[in-house]
Amino acid sequence: MEPLRVGDSYGGYRARLVEELRDLGIRDMAVLAAVAQTPRHLFVPEALRNRAYENAALPIGKHQTISHPSTHARNLEAVGLQGRERVLEVGTGSGYQTALLSRLADQVISIERIAALADLARSALQEAGCVNVTVLVGDGTLGRRSLAPFDAIIVSAAGASPPKPLIEQLADGGRLVMPICRDSGQELVKFTRTGDGLVEQSMGHVQFVPLLGKHGFEDENS
Ligand code: SAH
Repeated sequence: MEPLRVGDSYGGYRARLVEELRDLGIRDMAVLAAVAQTPRHLFVPEALRNRAYENAALPIGKHQTISHPSTHARNLEAVGLQGRERVLEVGTGSGYQTALLSRLADQVISIERIAALADLARSALQEAGCVNVTVLVGDGTLGRRSLAPFDAIIVSAAGASPPKPLIEQLADGGRLVMPICRDSGQELVKFTRTGDGLVEQSMGHVQFVPLLGKHGFEDENS
Protein backbone atom coordinates (compact mmCIF):
# COMPACT_ATOMS: atom_id res chain seq x y z
CA MET A 1 0.00 0.00 0.00
CA GLU A 2 1.19 3.56 -0.79
CA PRO A 3 2.58 5.61 2.11
CA LEU A 4 0.23 8.14 3.67
CA ARG A 5 0.46 11.64 2.31
CA VAL A 6 -2.28 13.26 4.37
CA GLY A 7 -0.79 15.85 6.73
CA ASP A 8 -2.67 15.07 9.95
CA SER A 9 -2.39 12.93 13.06
CA TYR A 10 -5.14 10.44 12.17
CA GLY A 11 -3.02 8.11 10.01
CA GLY A 12 -2.90 5.36 12.65
CA TYR A 13 -6.69 5.37 13.01
CA ARG A 14 -7.11 5.19 9.24
CA ALA A 15 -4.71 2.23 9.07
CA ARG A 16 -6.78 0.45 11.73
CA LEU A 17 -9.99 1.16 9.78
CA VAL A 18 -8.39 -0.31 6.65
CA GLU A 19 -7.56 -3.50 8.60
CA GLU A 20 -11.17 -3.68 9.78
CA LEU A 21 -12.44 -3.37 6.20
CA ARG A 22 -10.02 -6.09 5.11
CA ASP A 23 -11.39 -8.33 7.89
CA LEU A 24 -14.90 -7.65 6.56
CA GLY A 25 -13.86 -8.98 3.15
CA ILE A 26 -12.95 -5.85 1.17
CA ARG A 27 -10.19 -6.93 -1.22
CA ASP A 28 -9.93 -4.11 -3.82
CA MET A 29 -6.50 -2.57 -3.11
CA ALA A 30 -7.39 0.75 -4.74
CA VAL A 31 -10.45 1.09 -2.49
CA LEU A 32 -8.41 0.24 0.63
CA ALA A 33 -5.72 2.76 -0.41
CA ALA A 34 -8.37 5.46 -0.91
CA VAL A 35 -9.69 4.84 2.63
CA ALA A 36 -6.10 4.97 3.97
CA GLN A 37 -5.57 8.37 2.33
CA THR A 38 -8.90 10.13 2.82
CA PRO A 39 -9.42 12.28 5.94
CA ARG A 40 -12.92 11.13 7.04
CA HIS A 41 -12.73 13.42 10.09
CA LEU A 42 -13.22 16.41 7.75
CA PHE A 43 -16.61 14.99 6.71
CA VAL A 44 -18.19 14.53 10.16
CA PRO A 45 -19.38 17.26 12.57
CA GLU A 46 -16.54 18.56 14.76
CA ALA A 47 -18.12 17.17 17.94
CA LEU A 48 -17.90 13.64 16.47
CA ARG A 49 -14.36 13.79 15.09
CA ASN A 50 -13.05 11.42 17.74
CA ARG A 51 -15.36 8.77 16.23
CA ALA A 52 -14.54 9.54 12.57
CA TYR A 53 -12.53 6.33 12.02
CA GLU A 54 -14.98 3.90 13.60
CA ASN A 55 -16.81 1.69 11.13
CA ALA A 56 -20.02 3.50 12.08
CA ALA A 57 -22.73 5.65 10.55
CA LEU A 58 -22.83 9.09 12.22
CA PRO A 59 -25.36 11.96 12.10
CA ILE A 60 -24.37 14.85 9.80
CA GLY A 61 -27.42 17.12 10.37
CA LYS A 62 -30.68 17.64 8.42
CA HIS A 63 -31.78 14.15 9.56
CA GLN A 64 -29.12 12.51 7.37
CA THR A 65 -26.12 10.30 8.18
CA ILE A 66 -22.68 9.57 6.81
CA SER A 67 -22.79 5.84 5.98
CA HIS A 68 -20.53 3.13 7.46
CA PRO A 69 -17.10 3.14 5.77
CA SER A 70 -17.72 -0.55 5.04
CA THR A 71 -20.86 0.43 3.06
CA HIS A 72 -18.85 2.88 0.98
CA ALA A 73 -16.14 0.29 0.45
CA ARG A 74 -18.72 -2.26 -0.77
CA ASN A 75 -20.27 0.28 -3.16
CA LEU A 76 -16.88 1.22 -4.54
CA GLU A 77 -15.68 -2.36 -4.87
CA ALA A 78 -18.91 -3.20 -6.71
CA VAL A 79 -18.49 -0.49 -9.39
CA GLY A 80 -14.89 -1.61 -10.01
CA LEU A 81 -13.18 1.65 -11.06
CA GLN A 82 -9.87 1.75 -12.98
CA GLY A 83 -9.18 5.50 -12.70
CA ARG A 84 -10.33 6.83 -16.06
CA GLU A 85 -14.08 6.89 -15.46
CA ARG A 86 -16.65 9.65 -15.23
CA VAL A 87 -18.84 8.84 -12.24
CA LEU A 88 -22.20 10.13 -11.02
CA GLU A 89 -23.07 9.95 -7.32
CA VAL A 90 -26.65 10.57 -6.17
CA GLY A 91 -26.89 11.69 -2.52
CA THR A 92 -23.65 13.51 -1.67
CA GLY A 93 -24.50 13.73 2.04
CA SER A 94 -21.24 14.41 3.89
CA GLY A 95 -19.14 14.16 0.72
CA TYR A 96 -16.89 11.42 2.14
CA GLN A 97 -17.76 8.84 -0.52
CA THR A 98 -17.34 11.63 -3.09
CA ALA A 99 -13.79 12.12 -1.77
CA LEU A 100 -13.09 8.38 -2.06
CA LEU A 101 -14.45 8.45 -5.62
CA SER A 102 -12.21 11.40 -6.49
CA ARG A 103 -9.19 9.15 -5.82
CA LEU A 104 -10.62 6.23 -7.79
CA ALA A 105 -12.03 7.91 -10.92
CA ASP A 106 -11.13 10.70 -13.34
CA GLN A 107 -14.18 12.90 -12.84
CA VAL A 108 -16.93 12.86 -10.21
CA ILE A 109 -20.33 14.58 -10.42
CA SER A 110 -22.32 14.37 -7.21
CA ILE A 111 -25.91 15.56 -6.70
CA GLU A 112 -27.45 16.38 -3.29
CA ARG A 113 -31.00 17.62 -2.77
CA ILE A 114 -30.30 19.47 0.52
CA ALA A 115 -28.36 22.67 -0.29
CA ALA A 116 -26.94 23.07 3.25
CA LEU A 117 -25.36 19.58 3.08
CA ALA A 118 -24.00 20.26 -0.41
CA ASP A 119 -22.33 23.44 0.92
CA LEU A 120 -20.69 21.59 3.83
CA ALA A 121 -19.59 18.78 1.51
CA ARG A 122 -18.03 21.25 -0.94
CA SER A 123 -15.95 22.90 1.83
CA ALA A 124 -14.78 19.53 3.19
CA LEU A 125 -13.89 18.31 -0.31
CA GLN A 126 -11.89 21.47 -0.92
CA GLU A 127 -10.07 21.06 2.39
CA ALA A 128 -9.32 17.45 1.46
CA GLY A 129 -7.81 18.64 -1.84
CA CYS A 130 -10.35 16.93 -4.13
CA VAL A 131 -10.25 18.96 -7.35
CA ASN A 132 -11.90 16.62 -9.86
CA VAL A 133 -15.30 16.78 -8.13
CA THR A 134 -18.42 18.86 -8.84
CA VAL A 135 -21.23 18.97 -6.26
CA LEU A 136 -24.61 20.03 -7.66
CA VAL A 137 -27.83 20.77 -5.77
CA GLY A 138 -30.97 19.17 -7.17
CA ASP A 139 -32.99 16.02 -7.70
CA GLY A 140 -30.45 13.29 -8.40
CA THR A 141 -33.12 10.90 -9.69
CA LEU A 142 -33.04 12.98 -12.88
CA GLY A 143 -29.27 12.53 -13.25
CA ARG A 144 -27.55 15.17 -15.37
CA ARG A 145 -28.17 14.57 -19.04
CA SER A 146 -25.72 17.26 -20.24
CA LEU A 147 -22.83 15.41 -18.54
CA ALA A 148 -23.84 11.84 -19.51
CA PRO A 149 -22.91 9.11 -20.28
CA PHE A 150 -21.48 7.92 -16.95
CA ASP A 151 -19.25 4.87 -16.65
CA ALA A 152 -20.51 4.28 -13.13
CA ILE A 153 -23.38 5.57 -10.98
CA ILE A 154 -23.65 5.14 -7.21
CA VAL A 155 -27.02 5.92 -5.64
CA SER A 156 -26.66 6.44 -1.89
CA ALA A 157 -30.35 6.27 -0.97
CA ALA A 158 -32.89 3.46 -1.31
CA GLY A 159 -35.65 3.22 -3.92
CA ALA A 160 -38.09 0.72 -5.43
CA SER A 161 -36.06 0.49 -8.66
CA PRO A 162 -33.28 2.43 -10.41
CA PRO A 163 -34.61 5.76 -11.75
CA LYS A 164 -35.17 5.54 -15.52
CA PRO A 165 -33.09 8.68 -16.35
CA LEU A 166 -30.09 7.14 -14.55
CA ILE A 167 -30.31 3.94 -16.59
CA GLU A 168 -30.52 6.04 -19.76
CA GLN A 169 -27.43 8.01 -18.71
CA LEU A 170 -25.35 4.89 -18.00
CA ALA A 171 -22.69 4.08 -20.62
CA ASP A 172 -22.78 0.70 -22.35
CA GLY A 173 -20.94 -1.65 -19.97
CA GLY A 174 -21.48 0.89 -17.15
CA ARG A 175 -22.36 -0.15 -13.60
CA LEU A 176 -25.07 1.32 -11.35
CA VAL A 177 -25.08 0.38 -7.66
CA MET A 178 -28.15 1.18 -5.58
CA PRO A 179 -30.04 -0.06 -2.49
CA ILE A 180 -33.38 -1.53 -3.61
CA CYS A 181 -36.39 -1.92 -1.28
CA ARG A 182 -37.66 -5.54 -1.21
CA ASP A 183 -40.29 -7.20 1.01
CA SER A 184 -37.45 -8.58 3.13
CA GLY A 185 -35.75 -5.18 3.55
CA GLN A 186 -33.15 -3.30 1.52
CA GLU A 187 -30.71 -5.06 -0.75
CA LEU A 188 -27.67 -3.53 -2.44
CA VAL A 189 -27.94 -4.33 -6.15
CA LYS A 190 -25.40 -3.89 -8.94
CA PHE A 191 -26.91 -3.29 -12.39
CA THR A 192 -24.62 -3.62 -15.42
CA ARG A 193 -25.80 -2.14 -18.72
CA THR A 194 -25.24 -4.47 -21.66
CA GLY A 195 -26.61 -3.06 -24.91
CA ASP A 196 -30.31 -2.55 -24.26
CA GLY A 197 -30.46 -4.85 -21.23
CA LEU A 198 -29.55 -4.70 -17.56
CA VAL A 199 -27.83 -7.53 -15.68
CA GLU A 200 -28.68 -7.59 -11.97
CA GLN A 201 -26.48 -8.88 -9.17
CA SER A 202 -27.36 -8.82 -5.48
CA MET A 203 -24.65 -7.62 -3.07
CA GLY A 204 -26.37 -8.31 0.25
CA HIS A 205 -28.48 -6.58 2.88
CA VAL A 206 -28.04 -2.83 3.59
CA GLN A 207 -29.81 0.07 5.29
CA PHE A 208 -30.10 3.53 3.69
CA VAL A 209 -32.36 6.58 3.92
CA PRO A 210 -35.08 6.78 1.21
CA LEU A 211 -34.34 8.23 -2.22
CA LEU A 212 -36.74 11.15 -2.64
CA GLY A 213 -37.60 12.91 -5.89
CA LYS A 214 -39.41 12.63 -9.21
CA HIS A 215 -38.24 9.05 -9.82
CA GLY A 216 -37.99 8.14 -6.13
CA PHE A 217 -40.31 8.37 -3.12
CA GLU A 218 -42.49 11.39 -2.51
CA ASP A 219 -41.11 14.02 -0.12
CA GLU A 220 -43.75 14.36 2.62
CA ASN A 221 -42.49 17.86 3.53
CA SER A 222 -42.96 19.44 0.14
N1 SAH B 1 -22.76 8.73 0.91
C1 SAH B 1 -23.39 9.71 1.77
C2 SAH B 1 -24.80 9.25 2.08
C3 SAH B 1 -25.64 10.26 2.75
S1 SAH B 1 -27.29 9.75 3.11
C4 SAH B 1 -22.57 9.81 3.04
O1 SAH B 1 -22.11 8.77 3.51
O2 SAH B 1 -22.38 10.89 3.59
C5 SAH B 1 -28.10 9.94 1.57
C6 SAH B 1 -28.19 11.33 1.00
O3 SAH B 1 -29.03 11.26 -0.16
C7 SAH B 1 -28.83 12.40 1.91
O4 SAH B 1 -27.95 13.46 2.06
C8 SAH B 1 -30.11 12.81 1.15
O5 SAH B 1 -30.42 14.17 1.32
C9 SAH B 1 -29.73 12.48 -0.26
N2 SAH B 1 -30.83 12.29 -1.21
C10 SAH B 1 -32.00 11.61 -1.06
N3 SAH B 1 -32.74 11.68 -2.19
C11 SAH B 1 -32.02 12.43 -3.09
C12 SAH B 1 -32.23 12.87 -4.45
N4 SAH B 1 -33.34 12.57 -5.13
N5 SAH B 1 -31.27 13.60 -5.04
C13 SAH B 1 -30.13 13.95 -4.39
N6 SAH B 1 -29.88 13.57 -3.10
C14 SAH B 1 -30.81 12.83 -2.47
